Amino acid sequence: MMEAEDKQADAQTAPWRATVLTLFPEMFPGPLGISLAGQALERGVWALETVDIRDFARDKHRTVDDAPFGGGAGMVMRPDVVDDAIAATLRGEGGDGAGGGPARPLIFASPRGRPLGQQRVRELAAGPGVILLCGRYEGIDERVLEARAVEEVSLGDYVLSGGEPAALVLIDACARLLPGVMGSAQSQDEESFERGLLEYPHYTRPQEWQGRAVPEVLLSGHHEKIRAWRRAQAEQVTRARRPDLWARYRGAAQE
Ligand code: SAM
Repeated sequence: MMEAEDKQADAQTAPWRATVLTLFPEMFPGPLGISLAGQALERGVWALETVDIRDFARDKHRTVDDAPFGGGAGMVMRPDVVDDAIAATLRGEGGDGAGGGPARPLIFASPRGRPLGQQRVRELAAGPGVILLCGRYEGIDERVLEARAVEEVSLGDYVLSGGEPAALVLIDACARLLPGVMGSAQSQDEESFERGLLEYPHYTRPQEWQGRAVPEVLLSGHHEKIRAWRRAQAEQVTRARRPDLWARYRGAAQE
């Protein structure tokens, strides 16, 4: 009983945690170690650790990949090596009965995954953290992705040389939403995607720059008019640049 209570207390106080399974642990924290996310990392608001997949290789050459069955270019990361890395990471994790806090989702950065959006980022930031699996070469043997029911997430319709930049992006997007990381919660509410729209344009000093003036309404001090102007701008830019978002926004407004 006591043990269960301790675990619950731990889960409540444990920081949001990202674990990255990679062949290049030296890429972390990289850009996550600076600015607001870096300061929050130092303060213990969130935690970051890496697991070197190569440590789970089974031969003296520390081989992690092999040629693809069926032929073709490139190499494929072996399922046994990757699975051992995942198993070691999950030990001590909740959800599989091994103890610790609540289970974190296991995510594979992959161009074949569902495109990452702010909605999923928000869900992930609200949870206990993430375990991120980074591919290299042609990718990872499909069987381990199936066996571990891995969630595949894509950064966009282009191919990176490895999953690490995708992991850095996903963690950055989550970390900035954690309580105590960003200065103003209000600035989050109005950001692009938070309300289904891209954000309105910003202006600061000087009031006139290279013959371009700041829109008059922003100098008016009239909060209601400023809000209406910003909303109109957000709608206009979304309609012009992202017809997909605009259609969804209009659909939601009509419901
Ligand atoms: N052969 C794969 C394909 O065509 O789908 C591309 C492999 S890519 C060179 C190596 C690794 O980079 C992938 O396994 C994945 O982890 C990562 N990666 C590449 N593009 C990505 C993207 N758009 N989003 C997330 N991860 C990506």
